[in-house]
Amino acid sequence: MSAAPGRFARHLLETPPVRTPPAAAPGDLDRALAAPSLESLPVLLSAEALPRLEELAQRAREVTLQRFGRAVRLFAPLYVSNACLSSCTYCGFSKGLDVARRTLTVDEVVAEARTLVGRGFRHLLLVSGEHRVEVSADYLVACVEALRPLVPSISVETQTWSDDTYARLVAAGLEGVVHYQETYDRARYAETHLAGWKRDYDRRLASTERAAEAGVRRLGIGALLGLSGDWRADVVAVARHAVWLQRAYWRTEVTVSLPRIKPSASGFQPLVAVSDAEYVQALAALRLAAPEAGIVLSTREPAALRDGLVRIAVTTMSAGSSTEPGGYLTPGTAQEQFSISDERSPAEVAAMLEAAGYDPVWKDAFPLVDVAARLP
Ligand code: SF4
Repeated sequence: MSAAPGRFARHLLETPPVRTPPAAAPGDLDRALAAPSLESLPVLLSAEALPRLEELAQRAREVTLQRFGRAVRLFAPLYVSNACLSSCTYCGFSKGLDVARRTLTVDEVVAEARTLVGRGFRHLLLVSGEHRVEVSADYLVACVEALRPLVPSISVETQTWSDDTYARLVAAGLEGVVHYQETYDRARYAETHLAGWKRDYDRRLASTERAAEAGVRRLGIGALLGLSGDWRADVVAVARHAVWLQRAYWRTEVTVSLPRIKPSASGFQPLVAVSDAEYVQALAALRLAAPEAGIVLSTREPAALRDGLVRIAVTTMSAGSSTEPGGYLTPGTAQEQFSISDERSPAEVAAMLEAAGYDPVWKDAFPLVDVAARLP
């Protein structure tokens, strides 16, 4: 049985849609650049705005520096399992694929984490496929409890959970939850999520709300560009979702990510290719429409593009990543989720940031909610 629509899904039904226009007029573009907003985001994302990318990127850079300064948070994904009971057409972990599967023991998770801590990381993102037996709530709680003395900031990107499980994870020391909607287009979502827990669009869309209500401090959302035929509509939907979450859960930090589809064991071909220039446009426009949202960039993107985007809109980066379970200590023992492009070490990425005048932040000094709690 499908889940009932959550609060954000109902909000979308009650408010007028923000539509991608067939064409943006020059006057529209001037106004959108002068006073960017959620409503003008489709204009900033339009093909007509691309010739003014330099201007758009400069505006985004100013806003990023105003809101976030020169701090760039670094994190590492730690894949704990690639077992999955869901079938998603674009993913190398999809249930039907004949690939090498592995689920780490809790001790193996700790060993991987020690390696990453040794490389400087203090913020780890535990990632898994959706397998309720191999990656159960008890297993995940045990991982978080075991890592807590070692890792100050732990987030998870796994299947969606019930309120009770999010509360148990928070009690164990969890700080953040990442659930990408992948695409906000319901019809395309149904075409690409064929079976399993993830097939339920409304359950997934409401998952960050359940996590926030259970006390999770950091929420990550995103869309996989190229999954639907209209990448601009997905960028608009992500921005609306981020702003709504920030208003609904003001004590919670919200980050957004717009990964482009990469080659994987699925053999999936994107419906549309998003060029590098369009990708810069998407992140710059997103920065202007959702100025308080952190923007996350993974190692899927090539080094030169990442180096440019951190000067425009990005506030959080992964570095030196592996996308296979056990990939930091025993690489080659399991299927990776997708191939990465930026293969620099964490130290090399940190050196790049410093050379560009930015501060690589391995762990925030004070969680935002603690700062808020100290305010009069
Ligand atoms: S996207 Fe997630 S749920 Fe879907 S097949 Fe991949 S790991 Fe499984």
